[in-house]
Formats: sequence, structure tokens, C-alpha cells
Amino acid sequence: MGWFKRLKEGIQTATKFKKEAPDGLWYKCNSCGETSTMKELRENFFKCPKCNYHVRIGSHDYFELLFDGRYQELHPDLIAVDKLEFTDLKAYPDRLEEARRKTGLADAMTNAVGKVKKRSLVISAMDFSFIGGSMGSVMGEKISLAIDYCLEHRIPLMIISKSGGARMMESAFRSCKWPRPPLN
Ligand SMILES: [Zn+2]
Repeated sequence: MGWFKRLKEGIQTATKFKKEAPDGLWYKCNSCGETSTMKELRENFFKCPKCNYHVRIGSHDYFELLFDGRYQELHPDLIAVDKLEFTDLKAYPDRLEEARRKTGLADAMTNAVGKVKKRSLVISAMDFSFIGGSMGSVMGEKISLAIDYCLEHRIPLMIISKSGGARMMESAFRSCKWPRPPLN
């Protein structure tokens, strides 16, 4: 059983397609059922070219869409720790490890700095694919660090907020650490 019951069947993430599907492959829309190529989907900003259905995308997809070319991830090594020794169907460390392995992300929030029309911007973007985009201590710390970075460099911050809710495995404890262990 997953953490979040799907209200609508067939929700898929474009990030997954992106890793697995080169431009020539097809994307079948969950809304209208029509097919288009991955290239067409990307060129239409991950909206179905036939019906404009918005496909869920990840933080790095947002960075690639919004920044002028290159960007740099900030604070990539911050990870959650299991302060409560929380276990439900799985132990929390196992759940974290699985989410990291599955998504290639450190947590549900990713910070990056880059340029938009040649002006600097920091974007903090949530990933629903990482434990439902749940908000734990890493997310709070990363928002705080992004704000500090923006104040220090006098640049604006954009937060792309798409969380599924609070991460109950952490409660309200501040429980994150550096550095992130290597992915298996
Ligand atoms: Zn469609």
C-alpha cells in the first residue's frame, strides 16, 4: 500500500518518462487518451499537446523550463534523520532510502540558483514523487537556507509549492543533517 491513495487513476510523472523515454517515444495522455511524442510534450511545457492536460513534473523539469540554460543546485547534501525512530509499514530510514533511490533526490525540496532572462533567481521546488512532497525538517531548513542565500546575494526567491502535507514521521522536530550518504 502506498502512502497516498490516488484519487484519479493513471497519474504519471513526466520525470519518469523523461529518464526512460527518448524524444522519439510516445506519451499517452491520461486525460484524453491521445498519444504524442515526448518531444512534442516537452515543447508544449509538459501539457498534453492535444487537450492541454497538465502532466506532473519534477523540480529539475521546472529548473530546465524556467532557467536560462545552466543552473546550480544549492544545499544538495541535506538529508532527514529518524529522530523519532518512526516505523509504520516500513521503518522511516528505509522509506527515505527507497525514495532517494527511486527519485535520485535528497528530499522533497530542491533549491537551485540560475538566471532567468539574465537575472539571478533562486527557485525552491517541491517534488511530489519524494514521499508525496511531504514537508519535514529538510524542507523547512532548505526554505530557510534559500531565503538566507537570497538575502545575502540580494536576489529574488521563487517557491514552487506542491506538497501533499506534513511528514508525520518527523513530527515537529528539527531533524536533518549533512551530509547526504551516497546512493546505492
Ligand atoms: Zn490529452
